[in-house]
Formats: sequence, structure tokens, C-alpha cells
Amino acid sequence: MNYTPIIGLEVHVQLLTKTKIFCGCPNKFNPEHPNTQTCPVCLGMPGSLPVMNEEAFRLSLITALALNCEIAPFTKWDRKQYYYPDLPKGYQISQYDLPFSHSGWLEATTAEGDLRKVRIRRAHLEEDAGKNIHDESGRGGDSQVDLNRAGTPLLEIVTEPDIRSAVESKSFLEELYLLLTFIGVSDCNMQEGSLRCDANVNLKFDDGIATPIVEVKNLNTFRGVEAAVDFEIQRQLDEFQKTGRKLGDPGVEKETRGWDAQRNITLAQRGKEEAADYRYFPDPDLLPVTVSAHVVAEIKSHLCEPPSQRKRRFQKEMALSEYDADVIVNRGREFADYFELVASTCDDAKQAANWVTQDVLREMNDRRLNVEEFPIGAEVLGTVLKRVSEKTITIKSAREVFVALLEDADEDREVTVSRVDHLIDDRGLKVVSDTGALDAAIAAAVAESPKAVEDFNAGKQQAVGAIIGKVMKQVRGADPKQVREQIIAHLSGN
Ligand SMILES: [Zn+2]
Repeated sequence: MNYTPIIGLEVHVQLLTKTKIFCGCPNKFNPEHPNTQTCPVCLGMPGSLPVMNEEAFRLSLITALALNCEIAPFTKWDRKQYYYPDLPKGYQISQYDLPFSHSGWLEATTAEGDLRKVRIRRAHLEEDAGKNIHDESGRGGDSQVDLNRAGTPLLEIVTEPDIRSAVESKSFLEELYLLLTFIGVSDCNMQEGSLRCDANVNLKFDDGIATPIVEVKNLNTFRGVEAAVDFEIQRQLDEFQKTGRKLGDPGVEKETRGWDAQRNITLAQRGKEEAADYRYFPDPDLLPVTVSAHVVAEIKSHLCEPPSQRKRRFQKEMALSEYDADVIVNRGREFADYFELVASTCDDAKQAANWVTQDVLREMNDRRLNVEEFPIGAEVLGTVLKRVSEKTITIKSAREVFVALLEDADEDREVTVSRVDHLIDDRGLKVVSDTGALDAAIAAAVAESPKAVEDFNAGKQQAVGAIIGKVMKQVRGADPKQVREQIIAHLSGN
């Protein structure tokens, strides 16, 4: 029977603020010093009062607008009650029926390579819980709790069930990751839990029957999301063929499963509480938030170009290949900015793309530097490439200058635009347009190489190599191809 996977994602993003969402404690990943970033508010002491962090709300607005969401003019805070050791208040401050944003979209690439607009149902702001640490040695050690994370501003982004494959789930998350890092609202460090994803998965058969919905929790790698969705599709198909259990059957509830990345399987967890179980009610300690059209317009006017649009512009207006555009933009906003400045300085986007995706990336990786730390600035590299497009130096000489600039940096010399021209002069790399000097060098080299001339006349074309070498030593900036042609012409008596 034909079926369609129906997938929706819930993504939790920790926002990059200095302090927590409702108190002044530092918002910093710090597992080595547990419970050092806490205060009465985030410890849930009686009588303490939360105060909203405006920066957290501003970053949320930026994110929602970058996700093409509508912003609610009025929003409030709600208490979501549940008892857990990492939640000392006994409730989490979240947003229930009036989230601050809704109805957005983000494009993902389908398994067939097309783009699909995945609708965003809502994005709301809440506080993160602390972290329980269980002894996993199997020797029955203690469980401990670290509340450094309690109160970290957390944005929950919920999609509509528009995603249709495991590949597309991964693509959506990658696209979201790239967007969030471009707009600078989160470091999206998945190892540290700054970006976490849950996936709701079920299958719909052609006759309209669907399998029960399963929520797979805590997917914290791109590969994990893809593998978990793939596994879950197959598992639900097998399960349906065995039991015939379907969505809407009496006693069939939404199931929560965890992803076991070691064994590559999902495992059953606790049954999912319905909203009523959380007994949501408005938090009486926090004021509702109103957002004016003016604030929305202000933030919109400062939004950066989204990465997907930037890739398209690189292809359309700068004639880059899809591959080059992907490599450059996926490397992050600063790298894309670097490329654009190199390209505009030398006025040759293709050349700039070749250099930044090969030479610059290779050196960055070897030296373990990010692009802001890379010693050859965009204008300096742009100037080197400009000298190539002006035909002042050859590509080969450009590489020599590039290496020399890196050596300068290694010796703590300043790498500036003017240094480029000094190096070209010092090393005699200028292409010799003075044909008289080149002719003279060729004549001299030929006169010094009777053996090579004899070999050439006997039909050995490669004998010219020795003469080219001599000429290039004399006139370093000469174009080897041109030298070769001129020598052959000279020897052939033309
Ligand atoms: Zn605190």
C-alpha cells in the first residue's frame, strides 16, 4: 500500500543573551561548575519575582520575523505545571494560547531536490529547565541536578506537519540552523544543547487511514534527525502490518519515543500528557507584553539577507555554481561577507569564489582559524586577484604572493593592501609587457643553450623546457605560456 510520511518538527533554540530570561544570572554553558549561576528567582525560592529580559524578547522577535511569522500585538506568559527535579518552581514559565508569533514559513529541500515551504505554526518563548545528571555506571550512584541552565531563554519553533521525508527533515533543520546563525540569535551549539529537535511522525495511507502519531524526543544532530525519522517510518509500517492499529482507534494515544543514537533505534518512553494535564494558567507575576507595529517595522528593516536568498543571488547575479554558493554560504555569514568583499575588490566573482573555497578554506582549516582570524583580509586578497585580472601578474605569481603574505603574518608583519604591490615589485613578478626585454632574454637564453637548440631542431619539442627555465629566471613576471610560444617562434625562424 502506498503511504506518505507526515512529519512536523519542534525545535528548541537557546538564545544568545548575556543573562537568563527572568533574572540577572549569567546565561553560559558551564557544566564544570554546577549550580554557580543561580539566584532565588531561578532556584524558585518563595517570594522571588521574575523580570522579563528585554534582549531575550528582542532576539525572539528577530527570529520570528526571519521565519516570516506574524507578530502578535499582545502576548502573555503562562505557567505550565509539572514536577521534576530540574524544575524547582514546580512549573515552567512558557506561552500557551497567545504565543508572540505564528504563521510563518521556511524552505527545505525535498528528497527530489525541490524546495518546499514548510509552514511554521508558532514560535513562543519560554525558560529552559536545569539538567539532571544520572549515574550511568550501573553501580547505583547518585542522581544530581545542575540548575545553571534553569531559566535560559528558550525559543520553541513548531512547524505544521508539512515535511514528507527524513531527508527533508534534516534539510529543514540545517536551513534553520544556518538562518539562526546568520541572524546571530543563537550559537546553535548542538553538542551543548543550544539547538534540540523533536519530531512528530506518522504515516498516511492512500485510503486515508493513518498510523498513530509518535513524537521522537531529543534529536541533537542533523544525522540523528534523519536516521530517527527513517527508522520511525519503517517501524510504524511494520507495526501497522502486524497489528493494524491506527490513528483514532479507542485507546490509541500519541506515543513518546526516545532516539538511541548508539543503537540507531527509537525506544518507547512515558505516555504524552495532554495540555490539560499541565493546568496552564497566566503567570500573575509577569506583565503581558505588547509589541507595536513600529518595533516590528524597525526590526524588519534591520534583518539581514537570509542565507537561502543569498545563495540564489550568488548564482544569479554573480554567476557562481550552486556548489560554490553552497560552500560559501554554509560556512557562515562572516565567510559569505568575506567572499563578497574579495569579489567586489577584484571585480571577478568566479575567481574570488575559486580562491576562497580552495586556498582560503584550506589555510583556515590547516591553521584552525575562522575567517575573522584569517591573516589575509578580504581587501588584501581582493587586491591580489585584481592584479591578476588587470594582467599585472599571473595566477602562478598570485599564489606566490598569497604564500608570502601568510609568511608575513607568521612573522607578525602587517598584511596590508600596499604590501601586495611591494611583494610584486620586490620579487619581480610583474608580467613583462615590454617585449624588448623579453625578446632579449630569449635571444640570450637560446645563445646559451646550443644543446637544447640542437635537440629541438632534431624534433624534440620538450627541449624547449630548459630554455623557458632560463628566460623565466631572467624575467620572473613573464607568462610561461607566452614565453614558450615566443621561443618556438624564435627557433623556427619566424
Ligand atoms: Zn537566577
